[in-house]
Amino acid sequence: MSIDHIKEKIFSNERLTREDGLELFRSNDLLALGRMASHAAQRKNGNKVFFVQNMHINPTNLCVNRCTFCAFSRSRGEDGAYEMTIDDILDRARKAGQSVREFHIVSGLHPDLPFAWYVDMLRALKAEFPRIHLKAFTAVEIDYLAKLSGLSLTDTLVTLREAGLGSLPGGGAEIFDAPTRNTLCAEKISGDRWLEVMETAHTIGLKSNATMLYGHIETYEHRIDHLLRLRDLQDRTGGFQAFIPLSFHSQHTEIKKSAYTTGFDDLKTLAISRLILDNFDHLKAYWIMLGEKIAQVSLTFGVDDLDGTVVEERITRAAGGATDGSMTREEIVHLITQAGRTPVERDTVYNEVKAW
Ligand code: SF4
Repeated sequence: MSIDHIKEKIFSNERLTREDGLELFRSNDLLALGRMASHAAQRKNGNKVFFVQNMHINPTNLCVNRCTFCAFSRSRGEDGAYEMTIDDILDRARKAGQSVREFHIVSGLHPDLPFAWYVDMLRALKAEFPRIHLKAFTAVEIDYLAKLSGLSLTDTLVTLREAGLGSLPGGGAEIFDAPTRNTLCAEKISGDRWLEVMETAHTIGLKSNATMLYGHIETYEHRIDHLLRLRDLQDRTGGFQAFIPLSFHSQHTEIKKSAYTTGFDDLKTLAISRLILDNFDHLKAYWIMLGEKIAQVSLTFGVDDLDGTVVEERITRAAGGATDGSMTREEIVHLITQAGRTPVERDTVYNEVKAW
């Protein structure tokens, strides 16, 4: 089926409908999708491709939830379980080097640390690294911290912000469709609650990202509905900075699949995300999951952000991610320039640090 009528909409800057999105998913004209998504991306960011020098810190893999798709989490006493003290976290942060601008901090839901521990962790990091942005806690963690604190969502977020929280990453969104979500992670907060946490964060001025985990048991309809719900919230708050589709890695998880998502599906999903999410400024390819080569090719499928130099990430590697988990600044710049694009190093909130 031809997707020319959708192309016309894109070139005249018209918003796509649910049906348009489904048609795009049913089309196999990948190059046409790439051209449309590139047009939409260039309209927002020109030739620029952003990246940030960041360090991931995953303080613990102990988690009370144990979602079926998660290869990272452990119960206490289980092989591979670990937990860091605040001193351990500071030690790790000290290895970051001068040019790191962001700590990306996400964890399992620890069974017994009190809310005060998280506040102390942020304060300790901020005291020693005042210039490094703390992007921390998925909406799932924020919901958990609100329960621990006994405070409202707003007051929980305000307390964390006062301790040094700069913004939220976008994890934990998975897929909003309730039956699918219940199969993947019945213990996790609902899609509605995820959106409520983000809306509350945006309302008090905290920016965040948004993600979607795809390539497991969901359908194209679920993907489009997920994107549309994000687009609706963004219309109301404008608080999302980037959208990051996360390709599912099944190794070491309870969801059995014979293969990872394919390159074709990865590129298609990125391009369609760019086209549906017309109110998101940035589309990020998470190269740790996609692999460097597909991430580079995605720059002609609507992507304008290659995330970070990411020093040591544990979560995707636990599920058999495609890379060793780190790339130097020179390697990222090389990938971007080889794709004919302009590399721009940014901070967390997209202030430009250096362009090549
Ligand atoms: S996905 Fe998050 S909430 Fe679920 S088990 Fe893993 S760490 Fe815990």
